Amino acid sequence: MENRKTAAKAHSPQSHPAPQQAVVVGGGISGLLAARDLHAAGFHVDIYEASGVWGGCVGSHEVAGTVLDSGAESFATRNTAVADLAAELGLAEKVVAPNPAGAWVWLPDGPVPLPRTGILGIPSDLNAPEVRAALGTSGVLRASVDARLPVAVGTTEEVSSVAELVRLRMGKRVLERLVAPVVAGVHSADPEKLDVDAVAPGLRAGIREHGSLAAAVAALRATGQPGSAVAGLAGGMHTLVTALVDELVAAGVGMHPGHRIKAVYRDGTDPGQAPEDEKYDGGAPAPWTVDWEHGTDRGFTAAQLLVVATDGPAAVGLLAPELPELEAFMPAPGPDIRLVTLVVDVPELDSAPRGTGILVAPGVPGIKAKALTHATAKWEWLADSTGPGTHVLRLSYGRAGVKPSDAVRLTPATPREDDLVATALADASALLGIQVTEADLLGSDIVRWRGSLPFAAVGHQAKMAQVQAVAAKVPGLVLTGGWMNGNGLAAVVSGTRRAVRAAVDAAQRM
Ligand SMILES: Cc1cc2nc3c(=O)[nH]c(=O)nc-3n(C[C@H](O)[C@H](O)[C@H](O)COP(=O)(O)OP(=O)(O)OC[C@H]3O[C@@H](n4cnc5c(N)ncnc54)[C@H](O)[C@@H]3O)c2cc1C
Repeated sequence: MENRKTAAKAHSPQSHPAPQQAVVVGGGISGLLAARDLHAAGFHVDIYEASGVWGGCVGSHEVAGTVLDSGAESFATRNTAVADLAAELGLAEKVVAPNPAGAWVWLPDGPVPLPRTGILGIPSDLNAPEVRAALGTSGVLRASVDARLPVAVGTTEEVSSVAELVRLRMGKRVLERLVAPVVAGVHSADPEKLDVDAVAPGLRAGIREHGSLAAAVAALRATGQPGSAVAGLAGGMHTLVTALVDELVAAGVGMHPGHRIKAVYRDGTDPGQAPEDEKYDGGAPAPWTVDWEHGTDRGFTAAQLLVVATDGPAAVGLLAPELPELEAFMPAPGPDIRLVTLVVDVPELDSAPRGTGILVAPGVPGIKAKALTHATAKWEWLADSTGPGTHVLRLSYGRAGVKPSDAVRLTPATPREDDLVATALADASALLGIQVTEADLLGSDIVRWRGSLPFAAVGHQAKMAQVQAVAAKVPGLVLTGGWMNGNGLAAVVSGTRRAVRAAVDAAQRM
């Protein structure tokens, strides 16, 4: 086993200036992208991923012979970050829009189509038939008060939860019947706790600019790429990870799957003070050393630049021994979610009875899922690959504050996950209005995402600015990932690129 000192010494001083060494911790989309951008900027890069597979939440699995996304399956088009990255990786042609049929929402009194021109379920057009159907006359009347309220309502500093903003401007019915199901389904969060500025940047500023919340939603939708608010990749989002990994391998980046970083050490912030034996590669000091574990092997790698691209609790856990100020910012783990994928042979589903899928409002009796995605109705490429009559349904379990095991009442007597498939079949039948039984099942899989979808609680942005301020005081440290940038690929990709660019610029100035 190497020790810390030999890790630094292994890179013996050379007479010519050598590229700087960067270590990336975490092989999700943010870590892989950071590795790519650092390599392009001339760094020697090593990337360490605790699990045996790359991509983190952008995962894949094979169900009934079809490779499907097991986590993220689309990206927001409010910025071009993901589409630009796809194009750089040669995947421009693969960017596809979902079926414009849109999704539905299941309210306590039954299913209705979800307004298509909303953000977080907040409607931009109160005259749209779907909005009228979901809210009823009294709900629409209350929501229309938004247009007459002063712009200060909901835009003061104190108001920043999604729920508070919507309640103040459009009323309780919009919140309960449109916003809560979308927020639960997409962010696994309670709108009372979700920070509106983090999940819909620019929305509150838009109220001041355009005069109402509905107008702000319309304006924000118009700034994105035309068409749908999300897009996907033909073949699945996981093909982005495959392309990134292939490129990193070809570029000679040090890829270390199955390597968990146990600890990171900082060897002094003043490069001039670094001990002689911790200087390497052209004499540049290596302020960071990571301590990795791979099975029974253990070792150390030294670097001038450390990128921590893990989930929040892991990042704070690794850095707090060296940066105790971070301890105060230990984030709560995200919710425990289970995704049940069913591949079924049910030709009646070719009619896509609930469009691309259905979100379930909290408190709907008898249905335990919080959302169902009808993946073959949503993505044409997938329907083409499975063929007519065969359908991919993905149901998610686990609302904020409710464990999936509670939601589906797994008792000590019936703790088997198989029960969740039976529950998913029953939920799918109810939600789609078409019987889907065990006899129709071609394959199924249950994927558990524990703590992977942290949501931005009120005050998130201010807190993350403080975390960035702590990190910025330390040379050669980059913190990135969903917990810093906000959930979702659009935020993670753009935030990671920004953070890496800043670190490269700082390294070049030194
Ligand atoms: C079920 C699900 C569905 C989603 N759907 C969508 C969607 O449709 N659209 C969308 O835009 N977003 C979606 N998201 C969110 C999006 O996938 C994430 O925001 C994004 O992928 C986060 O990427 P990341 O690299 O920051 O983190 P992660 O993907 O969590 O990667 C972090 C990596 O760090 C590794 N790691 C942790 N600790 C260590 C350590 N000590 N040493 C080494 N490695 C370590 C982990 O194993 C992990 O692979 C979804 C998320 C989930 C969970």
